Order: sequence, then C-alpha cells, then structure tokens
Amino acid sequence: MLEIKNLQVKLEEEDKQILKGVNLTVEAGKVHAIMGPNGSGKSTLSYVLSGKDGYVVTEGEATLGGEDILEMEPEERAAAGLFLAFQYPVEIPGVGNMTFLRTAVNAQRKARGDEEMSSTEFLKVVREKAKSLKIDAEMLKRPVNVGFSGGEKKRNEILQMAMLEPKMCILDETDSGLDVDAMKLVSDGVNALRDEGRGFLVITHYQRLLDHIKPDVVHIMYDGRIIKTGGPELALEVETQGYAHLIEEEA
Ligand code: ADP
Ligand code: MG
Ligand code: MG
Repeated sequence: MLEIKNLQVKLEEEDKQILKGVNLTVEAGKVHAIMGPNGSGKSTLSYVLSGKDGYVVTEGEATLGGEDILEMEPEERAAAGLFLAFQYPVEIPGVGNMTFLRTAVNAQRKARGDEEMSSTEFLKVVREKAKSLKIDAEMLKRPVNVGFSGGEKKRNEILQMAMLEPKMCILDETDSGLDVDAMKLVSDGVNALRDEGRGFLVITHYQRLLDHIKPDVVHIMYDGRIIKTGGPELALEVETQGYAHLIEEEA
C-alpha cells in the first residue's frame, strides 16, 4: 500500500537534514504505529507525504499502490487515496462543514471517475457517520473547525476520513489534547474504518492511544530514522522504559 524507501528530507529554508533515510512499508489491512521522542521527524514525515511546502526530498521514494506520490500535487495525493489527519486541524472560516465535506467527497469521486453523490445520499451518509462520532447537526452547519474544541476538531477529522474512504490513513498525534472520552470516540471511529483494503499509519507520542487502536506493527523513530521495529509489545516497552535504552542500543 504505502512504501517508503530511503527517504531523505531537508528543509527548504535552511540546510538542515530532518529525515535521514526512512524505510517503511505499510501493507493493506494493517495498522502501523510510529512512536518516538519529540523532534525525531515524525511530523516531517507526514508533512512530506501530504505534499506540504517547505521540505525538499533529497533522496529516496514514496509510493502509494505503486504510484509515486512525491511527484503529485496535494489534491492528487488525496484523489489517489491518501488521507492525513494532523495534530492541529485547520480552521476554514466562511466555509460550512457540510459544504466542505460534500465538495471534498465529490472532488475525490470526480478524480476517480465516479459519479457525484446525490444530495439526498450525501445527507444520509454524513448524518449517519456524524452520529456514530457524536457530532451533532449544529457542528455540521458551522464553519470548518472554527470555534471547535480540540476534541471536536479531532472527531471532525475522523468524520472527513470516514466520508472520503481513503486507502491509506495517516494520523499525526491525533490523541494530543484529547480527554479519555474523546480519545475513545476517535479510536472507535478509526477502528470502524479498519478494513483489509486500507492501511493506517498512526503517529503518537504516547502508548495510550495504542490501547484503543491496536497496531500490528510498531516503529520507533529517532533522529530522522526508524531505529527499531516490532509488535505491539514494543509500545508497551516504551511506556515502561522510555526511549533511552533503544537509542543507546542504536548508537
Ligand atoms: P516530531 O514530530 O517527531 O516531534 P518534527 O518532524 O516536528 O518531529 O521535527 C523534526 C525536527 O525538524 C525538529 O528538530 C524540528 O525542530 C525540525 N523542523 C521541522 N520543521 C521545521 C521547520 N519548518 N523549521 C525549522 N525546523 C524544523
Ligand atoms: Mg513534535
Ligand atoms: Mg510531531
């Protein structure tokens, strides 16, 4: 599904290498987690995959279902089935949440050569999915994320994800700032989307999210590289022992 080979990335503005050769393959149907101390390059990886400006790929490749995504515009990446949920979801004043969702869904359908969703069908689907995420009708009418609490923003992102039905979902610190109930809702939303045709990359600083979203594979990132890969037990090891011993082992 997602294949990253020897990915090396530096900043556009200054000569600073952030990713120093990341190798990662996320298979369809699997949930991979990336953990690691602050400043390891986790967010940079998700930004580069999303096509955010300010980063230069100096080496390596990233493909989605065999297609080179690094060459694509951000909206082409989305049409190809990539979805990214960021630590700080953007607010879009003046654009109603419902309108935004409908535009996004139909743009994606168009790019895939599918017919637009009728308004009746769209309303039915969006209400159903919003309900399962405990997002009320009022929130669907308000401008995207404007004045939403942290938890509401995160739930709204999961709603976007559920509506777009991506092939590969990347969640960057979706758990930060969430209380236990909101984290449960977000996790349930993600778990409901787990599917044999869909891959997940869950980036998190803490183990607690992984109690709810059980990963198949756990990677530890440090200083721009993945320094260790294991099963769910690796996340538990980090929870009790921290990262220091893994970093020492690597050194
Ligand atoms: P993580 O998500 O693992 O905490 P980041 O990807 O946010 O790590 O950051 C990795 C490193 O790159 C950090 O040292 C950070 O300061 C640096 N970095 C990332 N983006 C920028 C930027 N736009 N300008 C300056 N430094 C940056
Ligand atoms: Mg950080
Ligand atoms: Mg980060």
